[in-house]
Amino acid sequence: MGKVLMIGAGGVATVAAFKIAQNADVFTDFMIASRTKAKCDKIVEAIGNPNIKTAQVDADDVEQLKALFNDYKPELVINLALPYQDLTIMEACLACGCSYLDTANYEPKDEAHFEYSWQWAYKKRFEDAGLTAILGCGFDPGVTSIFTAYAAKHHFDEIQYLDIVDCNAGNHHKAFATNFNPEINIREITQKGLYWEDGKWVETAPLEIHKSLTYPEVGPKESYLLHHEEIESLVKNYPTIKRARFWMTFGQQYLTYLDCIQNLGMSRIDEITYEAPLTDDPTKKVKVNIVPLQFLKAVLPNPQDLGENYDGQTSIGCRIRGLKDGKEQTYYVYNNCSHEAAYKETGMQGVSYTTGVPAMIGAMMFFKGLWRKPGVWNVEEFDPDPFMEQLNKQGLPWHEIFGGDLEL
Ligand code: NDP
Repeated sequence: MGKVLMIGAGGVATVAAFKIAQNADVFTDFMIASRTKAKCDKIVEAIGNPNIKTAQVDADDVEQLKALFNDYKPELVINLALPYQDLTIMEACLACGCSYLDTANYEPKDEAHFEYSWQWAYKKRFEDAGLTAILGCGFDPGVTSIFTAYAAKHHFDEIQYLDIVDCNAGNHHKAFATNFNPEINIREITQKGLYWEDGKWVETAPLEIHKSLTYPEVGPKESYLLHHEEIESLVKNYPTIKRARFWMTFGQQYLTYLDCIQNLGMSRIDEITYEAPLTDDPTKKVKVNIVPLQFLKAVLPNPQDLGENYDGQTSIGCRIRGLKDGKEQTYYVYNNCSHEAAYKETGMQGVSYTTGVPAMIGAMMFFKGLWRKPGVWNVEEFDPDPFMEQLNKQGLPWHEIFGGDLEL
């Protein structure tokens, strides 16, 4: 039924690959391509299906991407590389007649800043080409946006207050590690906070606003207001929203390390000059430019290797207040995901799992013809029902609480 090419071979891509392989009735042909082909081969070996093809590609290079797409001829390209590659992959998709799906919005390498404008600017070109681009199909963005669409479709006439709450109550037993790409993760968390209120954006100092929130099966956890990309599209697509915020939990130890990293200058994203020994002749020194945050990534634990001793669970959902039949209603829809169960199934921890599974389901929606329309779309612009049904079948069951105390 569908020929798919996935770019990237990290934690999220590994989970998506397992899930694509489990749904071979939908994904009849499958290729994994990434910067390092050996990592793609390792995923295929772990899945144990030699029919999955692999290839090497530098996704920063549109010409290389075009050569690969023209050769393999996928109908859909799933981008699970980094947000830096979104635009080059979209360009190559347009040039080669492929549809597109990703899990994170574009971010320039030299500026820790993300917003949808760069990708929304492609709308007309995808429309004219008759191709579909599905943006932000991980968990957050992704499932949280679909949870909101589901609430709007079934439980509210008007959504007024939206709080997306993301708790990782797991423990990987490392002093410090990030759960997905460290560079992207640290850039996100050290940014200023931002939320939407009464028709405008309100900025806060990084991690300035926080409060304890109670998560199902987890209990109370200190939660910090962050800027998160799905808020941008949700307030546009649901204009009745008066206030929209995003909260994420962090432990005190994590925040202490983060503080040190920043104070030491290791979260800097500008280049510094460093004198290093030549690889071939260590007696000789050469001046090289390095980005401290990229160097830090190289020495931190790889998120892909965290799974083995990870216990506990994630709990992510939407807390919504609004009107139904003229009355105020509260609604909380969430998923809890066990790190151990995710590891048992895919060899990856829960954060990679909760992102890779929705990416596969979004691709499935495309191939089933349910989420296929020319243009560039955020996931809440599609019918949430078939996606919600698949979440229950593919390992991310969700639960609802009506009329509860939202704490917010
Ligand atoms: P990883 O760093 O583990 O994996 C990224 C992969 O992309 C690596 O295999 C890397 O190759 C490859 N890659 C990087 N640059 C290039 C390039 N120029 N050309 C080809 N391949 C490249 O990241 P994660 O798996 O943790 O995250 C993947 C994506 O998922 C990110 O965009 C992240 O922001 C997003 N994400 C979204 C979430 C959501 O809920 N929406 C949550 C978590 C993550 P190599 O191994 O050779 O470096």
